[in-house]
Amino acid sequence: MCGIIGVVSNKESKRLAELVVSCLNRLEYRGYDSVGVAALSSANLEVRKAKGTVEEVVRKKNIKELSGYAFLGHTRWATHGAPTDYNAHPHTDCSNNIAVIHNGTIRNFKELRDELQSLGHKFKSETDTEVIPHMMEEYMKRGMDTFQAFRSAVKSIQGSFAILAVVKGERRIFFAKRDNPLVIGLGDNKTFIASDIPSFLPYTRKVIVISDGELGYVTPNTVYIEDENDNPIDVTSRIKIIDWDASSASKEGYPHFMLKEIHESPIAVKDTISGLLSEIDKVSEIAEEIRESSRIIVTAAGTSYHAGFYFSLLLARKGYTSIPLIASEYHNFRVKKGDIVIAISQSGETLDVKMGIRKFKEEGAKI
Ligand code: GLU
Repeated sequence: MCGIIGVVSNKESKRLAELVVSCLNRLEYRGYDSVGVAALSSANLEVRKAKGTVEEVVRKKNIKELSGYAFLGHTRWATHGAPTDYNAHPHTDCSNNIAVIHNGTIRNFKELRDELQSLGHKFKSETDTEVIPHMMEEYMKRGMDTFQAFRSAVKSIQGSFAILAVVKGERRIFFAKRDNPLVIGLGDNKTFIASDIPSFLPYTRKVIVISDGELGYVTPNTVYIEDENDNPIDVTSRIKIIDWDASSASKEGYPHFMLKEIHESPIAVKDTISGLLSEIDKVSEIAEEIRESSRIIVTAAGTSYHAGFYFSLLLARKGYTSIPLIASEYHNFRVKKGDIVIAISQSGETLDVKMGIRKFKEEGAKI
């Protein structure tokens, strides 16, 4: 999991660097082995990145000194290539005209990398992500415009991703999403695009949630989105106004998130129960389905698995036998019609849980 943020403004300024840093601070829970920023100005595309926390890298690399009209920011949790300065995002093409940040994994990156290398592209990192700027560069060399090049690069990759890209000389941020989260924030003469809403919530409450398979670009005042078949999507009907508070996404004085979450347990339980009370009919319906199912499988990973395990215990006390299944073992299990699968993920993004859901659904279980 990584945190990504992009912002594009109608004005060029250093204030934008500070804004991106504040967004990165709120995204750090998503990844914290390295950090990087790309600043696009009329004069330059500058990338500064290093291994370390947001605070360390921002200080060491003087990130707040950067000026520009478009910024990309990334906080990494490495999947391909060790956490090092050169593996930190953003990644660039050979001529440093394109910068890309990515959350996710590219399954076919080896084949793509080999092909690009045989065409003369020089790689500077061990990441899967770096194939994207080189592919865009290659497609542009062959005569495509920037958006076509971005679209073609996205269509060549297999795997999961939320991708942001900027190109020198253009006041827009390209984006694409499959399986990893991406949301647009519509600000005042500036547009945000990030892994989550709290990262930019102090600046705008107007959001558009991007769906799987969509790609497009944002400018300071416009949003263009198209679906998998390249058909433009009406964005105005997709704008939502957020009415909840960002404070629930910050550490609020606790030294780390785990301690904060432990202290929050009573209120979290209370909020959950009161939320369920307003949907009591739905709860009874689900309870009935659990009661009538032939088998109950509870699947989750990490802390959610412990919650699932405890749920199984509560079911056992009521005389129902369930199978607590550690999500990464999903491929060893086969379910069938009549089975019920309860899948738990705090982020909604736990890949093994999502893969399990897909498989179990195909096999006919109720999720
Ligand atoms: N695969 C990319 C990397 O290793 C992104 C990692 C992630 O999203 O966790 O740099």
